[in-house]
Amino acid sequence: MREILFLEPVFKSAIWGGTKLSSIYGYDIPTDHTGECWAISAHQNGDCTIKNGEYAGQTLSWLWDNHRELFGNAKGDVFPLLIKIIDAKADLSIQVHPDDEYANVNENGSLGKTECWYILECDDDGKIVLGHNAKDKEELKQMIAEKRWQDLIKVRSIKKGDFFQINPGTVHAIKAGTVILETQQSSDITYRLYDYDRLDNGKLRELHIDKSIDVIDCPHVDVEVGGNSIGDENYRMEELIQCPFYTVKKISLSGEHDFEQNHPFLNVSVIEGSGEIDGTPIKKGSHFILPADYGTYHLKGNMDLIVSHI
Ligand code: ZN
Repeated sequence: MREILFLEPVFKSAIWGGTKLSSIYGYDIPTDHTGECWAISAHQNGDCTIKNGEYAGQTLSWLWDNHRELFGNAKGDVFPLLIKIIDAKADLSIQVHPDDEYANVNENGSLGKTECWYILECDDDGKIVLGHNAKDKEELKQMIAEKRWQDLIKVRSIKKGDFFQINPGTVHAIKAGTVILETQQSSDITYRLYDYDRLDNGKLRELHIDKSIDVIDCPHVDVEVGGNSIGDENYRMEELIQCPFYTVKKISLSGEHDFEQNHPFLNVSVIEGSGEIDGTPIKKGSHFILPADYGTYHLKGNMDLIVSHI
């Protein structure tokens, strides 16, 4: 039987980051403004290392390049998904991502970025930015030129456990006090539309207004999320989203249950509680990959997990 691939996360500091990745998940973070934990990533800007077993010490990108059979011989130059936990102590800039086609032409063949958010923690009056109020491109350009940001952006209330799909072309931003688990295409291409006129080391961060206008969808349309749910007294497994790039599900376990890993690979993140997988202890903050042909896996404990596959 193939081994579970446990991963060593990569951390990113940011002006908007905080310390919750340490206080909530127990990670050894590099600074008191750590914004992101790249938990399952083979991206060149943050390539996770395998922690255990035969491939200990190798990077996930190396494994993708040299042992594609572990990923069901899936096609593609790069491991296609990236799983992050983001701690926003301050508001993130308002941004938008290109799709594959635009990124391929304008960003040296990079993938575009479709992403989704599971809200892990937020303040009582937690909010995010998702979408905009311009009816067409002309109105969008005009509102941007006139800096009518508050009229333009759609701010929404959130609570723990909410889930959002953010397609390319969607204006979005995480706001202060929010911790999310993000499942995304493995891309680092972000166009910054507005940064609240904040200074980073005395300077405004670069904006990408023209590219943002190019890619923003007008008018904004919300994506429906949520799907089938199955379970019994020991567990519940709920589909959060299925899109051309990934399927994301939430498993809530109180007891034990056998599940099947019949995908090219399965990304797993424990977001609450603790327990074990096939006898190996796991807890909130653990991230791992079940490789191809892993077959049946047995989960036991009281925990919530987010899983994803292509
Ligand atoms: Zn984004």
